[in-house]
Amino acid sequence: MDAVIEVSALRKAYGSVRAVDGVDLTLRRGEIVGVVGPNGAGKTTMLECVAGIRRPDSGVIRVLGLDPLHDRKQFTRRVSLQPQAGALFGNLTVRESVRLWCSFYPQPRDVDDLIAAVGLTEKADARVKRLSGGQYQRLRLVLALAGSCEILLLDEPTGALDPNAREDAWSAIRARGDEQTVVVTTHSMEEAEQLCDRVVIIDRGRVVADGTPSALMDQHGGQTVSFRLPQPPDEAVLRRFPGVKAVLLRNHGGGALARLVTDDPARTSEKVRARYGATAKDVHVAPNSLHTVFVTLTGTELKEVER
Ligand code: ATP
Repeated sequence: MDAVIEVSALRKAYGSVRAVDGVDLTLRRGEIVGVVGPNGAGKTTMLECVAGIRRPDSGVIRVLGLDPLHDRKQFTRRVSLQPQAGALFGNLTVRESVRLWCSFYPQPRDVDDLIAAVGLTEKADARVKRLSGGQYQRLRLVLALAGSCEILLLDEPTGALDPNAREDAWSAIRARGDEQTVVVTTHSMEEAEQLCDRVVIIDRGRVVADGTPSALMDQHGGQTVSFRLPQPPDEAVLRRFPGVKAVLLRNHGGGALARLVTDDPARTSEKVRARYGATAKDVHVAPNSLHTVFVTLTGTELKEVER
């Protein structure tokens, strides 16, 4: 498959904050790529640089062979961006807004099909200013899909959506044409796992992992043995337990909540019971997930709660 987005040695700082700190990425035609990371990881900054609305400090970006900053006319016809925030015209109706966006592009999609794809048919004649937060977000997603663009850059497209609306949004994104490449930023590992062909995990401005969800879980994941203790344990001791790849300790009312990522949950749990006996409460095993991959690679938790 051919490369449609090429990013090399991308850097962008705000004062002393290195928001994007040397990112190299190649995205291929037709992929749905999730850029995942905690709040402040640099996802939006990276996406905005790729979209040509933020100037990098250094590095090279080519999208469909175009320079996002300098080839604006061609770029905006072939690439669409759904920014994280952005005002729409409150006095237009949903249908009028979609029709307006469709008029910007050479090959727009059908207005009513677009509205139906995200479950807004009943609201087609409602004014935008009367929509709920989730309905507004669905409309913004539809506007990004309106032009049948080759590249869709979606910054947290499902943040405010309830579970059903979120599934609808995923379906609408998946139903893109085979040739359309989608980049989605999210801090939901669940979204990355369910929606994306490929996941790029970003932490503190750097790419820490890149691959299909299953490859990342095979390579870096593991099951998690969790338990509570009345006293904080010695982390170095936990790290030496059989199978353990990563340890996370959190204060828990004077005691500790321990999470051990392990390749051998049976032996790890056995060792926990042997060492801490009845003081170890609520010992249980959780399955492998992309969240676990993040913990193993960064030694920290993805703070955002999975919605
Ligand atoms: P979130 O998930 O919260 O949207 P993110 O991964 O998209 O976060 P960015 O918005 O790119 O992260 O922010 C990366 C870092 O750069 C953060 O520390 C943020 O505070 C900082 N930052 C972002 N935009 C600006 C700005 N315009 N001026 C100064 N600092 C900024």
